[in-house]
Amino acid sequence: MLIKVLLPLAIPRSYSYKVPEALQSQIRFGIRVEIPLRGKLYSGIVVNTSAEEEDLVKPKAIVSIIDHEAVVTSTQLKLWQWIADYYCCTLGQVMNIAIPSGLKLHSETRISASDALDSHLENIKDDDEFMIAEALTNNAEISIDELRKILGKNTVYPKIKSLLDQRLITISEHLIQKYKPKTQDFVRFTEPYRSKEVNINNAFELTTKSEKQTQTLLAMLSLSQKMEWIDKSDLYKKSPSDSTVINALIKKGIIEKETFEISRIKPEGDETNVLPPMSEAQQGAYEEIKQHFSEDKNVLLFGVTGSGKTRIYTEIIQETINNGKQVLFLLPEIALTTQLVQRLSKTFGAEVGVYHSRLNPQTRVELYKSALGEKSIFIGARSSLFLPFRDLGLIVVDEEHDPSYKQTDPAPRYQGRDTALYLARLCGAKVILGSATPSMETYLNGIEDKLGVVNLIHRYGDAVLPDIEIVDLRDMYAKNKMRAMFSLPLLKQMKASLELGEQILLFQNRRGYSPTLQCTVCEWNAECPNCDVSLTTHQYYEELRCHYCGYKNIMPKECPACGNQKLVKLGFGTEKIEDELRKYLKEAKIARLDYDTAKTRSQFENIIYDFEHHNIDILIGTQMITKGLDFDNIGLVGVLLADKIMNFPDFRANERAFQLFTQVAGRAGRRKKKGKVMIQTFNPTHDVIQETLHLDYKKYYTRELDERKQFLYPPYYRQILITIKHKSMEKATAVSTYMVERLKASLGPRVIGPATPSIARIRNMYIQHITIKMEKDWKIVGQVKDLVKAEIVSIRNQKNMSTVRINVNVDP
Ligand SMILES: [Zn+2]
Ligand SMILES: [Zn+2]
Repeated sequence: MLIKVLLPLAIPRSYSYKVPEALQSQIRFGIRVEIPLRGKLYSGIVVNTSAEEEDLVKPKAIVSIIDHEAVVTSTQLKLWQWIADYYCCTLGQVMNIAIPSGLKLHSETRISASDALDSHLENIKDDDEFMIAEALTNNAEISIDELRKILGKNTVYPKIKSLLDQRLITISEHLIQKYKPKTQDFVRFTEPYRSKEVNINNAFELTTKSEKQTQTLLAMLSLSQKMEWIDKSDLYKKSPSDSTVINALIKKGIIEKETFEISRIKPEGDETNVLPPMSEAQQGAYEEIKQHFSEDKNVLLFGVTGSGKTRIYTEIIQETINNGKQVLFLLPEIALTTQLVQRLSKTFGAEVGVYHSRLNPQTRVELYKSALGEKSIFIGARSSLFLPFRDLGLIVVDEEHDPSYKQTDPAPRYQGRDTALYLARLCGAKVILGSATPSMETYLNGIEDKLGVVNLIHRYGDAVLPDIEIVDLRDMYAKNKMRAMFSLPLLKQMKASLELGEQILLFQNRRGYSPTLQCTVCEWNAECPNCDVSLTTHQYYEELRCHYCGYKNIMPKECPACGNQKLVKLGFGTEKIEDELRKYLKEAKIARLDYDTAKTRSQFENIIYDFEHHNIDILIGTQMITKGLDFDNIGLVGVLLADKIMNFPDFRANERAFQLFTQVAGRAGRRKKKGKVMIQTFNPTHDVIQETLHLDYKKYYTRELDERKQFLYPPYYRQILITIKHKSMEKATAVSTYMVERLKASLGPRVIGPATPSIARIRNMYIQHITIKMEKDWKIVGQVKDLVKAEIVSIRNQKNMSTVRINVNVDP
């Protein structure tokens, strides 16, 4: 019997293995098996149970079978294959991110002391051997890697062999299973008592001499009158029982004990909410969605912030699970901590599983497996697309425009929204893409009738749209109307809002204190030694930090170049805003929400809680404050510097800017109150600023789509971005120039570059970009991908180029 096994490695193929006769009956698709490869052991997944003999390679035998039941379904494998083809990577790379780490095994050789070691320790003459032996008397097991560290040398095998020959140590090459099921001991009465064959009073007669045993039996009866399995820890709580008592009762044949696997998944919400009826507008939208579904169309739910999309989602989710099908609700990673998740959990109670990267590995495995069984609703970030759904009926992609749906590193560089559409096709499920500011791709699909479009343009209840005001910074600076980064009109409005008891959000898309530290004499700039960027100052830590590689250094007191003691902090981030604001609004309670103050889920939740309960008047934040938050007392939202976002060197800069400004503005004035939004900018006539000012969606989409078409950008054209990295700038340039020449020979002007990106070096690697723009024609796109893959293989096989790192990003 020959099988094909897939490994979570970047190797381009799967391998064939023989199955020993004794194991053959247990082999099935989707289970994990232990296999040898190049002297190591791996766990791989059986993807084909009847492989053909290959000519050249003689297949080895599998070592063991790990699972009894499949951990991967055939639908999942089809999805992986599509991702590998579409995003130009290997199936192993997809598997690597698709399977929770708790289901991946790794090989480690470990050494332990034999019984003889202690008494022979003194006789060991060799110094290295003695060090190994000594280390083993303090540790139960040591890996080869650890031994190398202990000895400070790489060649340790001869020493190990010598110790083995003297029978002082033992060795084992085994796979370590990271996931251990959580188990619990249970007890119950034995069969004769349960079936009433023997009267329960007889049991008590057997325990008359022991008060503890009698109490334990009484407690068992009170815990389960039907004499079912009882959790041992519950019994311990209810009686003076302990292991001695339990063992005595087992010995007397009254009770039996067994260990069961139990789940680590806690239900997300134990109380369930009763929902208010849908409004007329919501009811209308709901019926439109159903109509599109019945015509076999997926739907874009284009609903302004505050229109109550969630209410419509819950209605359709309920219907889907009533039909016995499962639901996947996708959110941007950052929004997983927010009120929306709590609301859905409250509505659907224990049916809901929240799947994200911060779960501990064990819980992640259990949630993963629960998709094959009992749970019906999964809320998660893009990685939850890889769950093994039993029967998926609906995928909701909320905030479908959000850039965090796209994975950038490592491969596969997939777009979660597009993958969701493909997964739904595989499963016969329907998709709702929800957004207040749909992406250009989705909007165009709506225009071209590939998606049903459902508009929800009214805010829920009597909530009204905010007043938006643009503050011209050129004018403010010229007339001396700036106080730090605040214009006088903004300061005045803040004071007015505070007096009315309203809360304020201030948005700046940059954390830290200031992005640049400069010498006033020689113009020295604090720069990262590993990247071509300035270091950001962090006042609170008195540190300089690189936001690209994590490099840190203490803040210098004087210029390292000329010794001048006056260093200025140019520009501003959220930390500096907080600092400055305290000078102008001394009475206000001010807090900050960014990556530095909300590193963990609980820190994030605490800040949100404080804001909700008005322990905070003014919240300053990065885009963390724009996502999924719903407060009802915000009188004012301020954008401190709009320009940085609009001027970002990317063809999507305008799209991102409009999305961000509209999202931020959407936080202002909900529930009957008209809110105020103030946007400070040096460029008040910029298209995006004007479109935001008038909330002119139509103009925004028309203009942006026209520009994309004119300059051959997505969604009208397709793009592939190839990134080339190397420690040496010359090598990176040489290889990218070579690659461009080769690609141009077949693709002509579709190939652009090589170009140096705005940040030319990150983590000591020099970067070059090659962009391929091509027609939206699957034949051409397929040919281009094949060509790119072939070129990369050929470069990797050339001796002088093989060390260059090449990444392919399809639909960047
Ligand atoms: Zn200087
Ligand atoms: Zn750096």
